[in-house]
Amino acid sequence: MRSVAILGATGSIGENSLAVLSRHPDQFRIETLTGSTSADRMALLCREHQPATAVLADAAAANRLQTLLGTHSTTRVLAGTEALVEVATAADTDIVVAGIVGGAGLESTYAAVAAGKTVLLANKEALVMAGRLLLAAAKTSGAHIIPIDSEQNAMHQCMPHSAGGINLEGVQRILLTGSGGPFLHHSEDTLASVTPDQACNHPRWRMGRKISVDSATLMNKGLEYIETSYLFDLSPEQIEVVIHPQSIVHSMVTYLDGSVLAQMATPDMRVPIAYALGFPQRITSGADPLNLLNQEPLTFLPPDETRFPCLALARAALEQGEGHCIALNAANEVAVAAFLARQIQFTAIPQVIAQVLAKTEAAKPNSIDSVLLLDQAARGTAQSCLNQLGI
Ligand code: NDP
Ligand code: MG
Repeated sequence: MRSVAILGATGSIGENSLAVLSRHPDQFRIETLTGSTSADRMALLCREHQPATAVLADAAAANRLQTLLGTHSTTRVLAGTEALVEVATAADTDIVVAGIVGGAGLESTYAAVAAGKTVLLANKEALVMAGRLLLAAAKTSGAHIIPIDSEQNAMHQCMPHSAGGINLEGVQRILLTGSGGPFLHHSEDTLASVTPDQACNHPRWRMGRKISVDSATLMNKGLEYIETSYLFDLSPEQIEVVIHPQSIVHSMVTYLDGSVLAQMATPDMRVPIAYALGFPQRITSGADPLNLLNQEPLTFLPPDETRFPCLALARAALEQGEGHCIALNAANEVAVAAFLARQIQFTAIPQVIAQVLAKTEAAKPNSIDSVLLLDQAARGTAQSCLNQLGI
């Protein structure tokens, strides 16, 4: 029996993780659930899954959760960001699902890795901000990082494994697939007027609002480009982005002999989550089986970087170095939040990011605290760019 902490349990990754875990009560115990402000949702989850501990980062929400659960609940309620680190490193937790959205997940994700946990990584922003530090910490602690982002999970499935982990011998390139998002076929002039709800209406996946907007701008593929480079220690030239609107092939690994291995499944996050929970065994996920005979034809096309400049911005940031990756992520978070609040147009998102990158100096932070300082500075720069736009 292995015990699991789900960081970001009240979100979309949390929901899918709980769905898989609930199918295997004989193998996994749900030890901890965390969220930020969603007290009502957390109260429901606590009643259903009876975790030993529930954390809400927001103190007022944690108070409300305690009231909702009443005094007879066996779940201990904690508040604050320090509590996230505490549960991510707790001795009685084996597996940590890193499912918090954005830079807010960095400290707890890093803490889990440094504590040697098996970390099921959805929080790609943590890798974009501090990939080198996270992987170095994993090497020291012996932590096992298994990506549950569907594309990186597909790569993990298609790569050769040896006793020491992934062995890249013979691997030539990666084909990183992406659906192209809801505006794949929109003309450039219509993109300025799209609404947050349209951007969040993804054709293939139901996800949180931030990653949905990232998918619509293609920044999600940009973040994954950086994520892939760090996770598998690949040079940027070894990674090619391919648009695949049906989201059936979740990425491919090309070998020296010309073989290409692809992982396929219905687009359902329970598949990569079940793979990572069971690894190296296979366990059921609850996802519908893939029926290729009932499936529309699989197509592949190159990304259009004129209509969607975010991918090129991410590639440039990776080339420029760690300070620029931190700034890219921070500026994107600020710009996406402003778009979701209807303060800027969809097409202003890459403009804000480009402006912040132009003002960023090279940096190679040697601690998570230094990363967070650079992140704060870049958020400040992004905010001044928004102020110049009159926001
Ligand atoms: P959601 O918005 O659905 O959920 C986010 C979770 O993070 C919630 O539990 C939320 O709590 C919590 N959270 C938000 N802000 C904070 C904070 N400041 N401190 C602590 N916790 C916080 O996001 P998703 O589940 O869609 O995405 C989570 C991560 O997984 C992202 O990095 C995303 O890129 C990645 N991912 C997601 C996929 C998906 O299918 N959803 C696919 C691949 C990757 P609360 O509810 O209380 O706000
Ligand atoms: Mg993905």
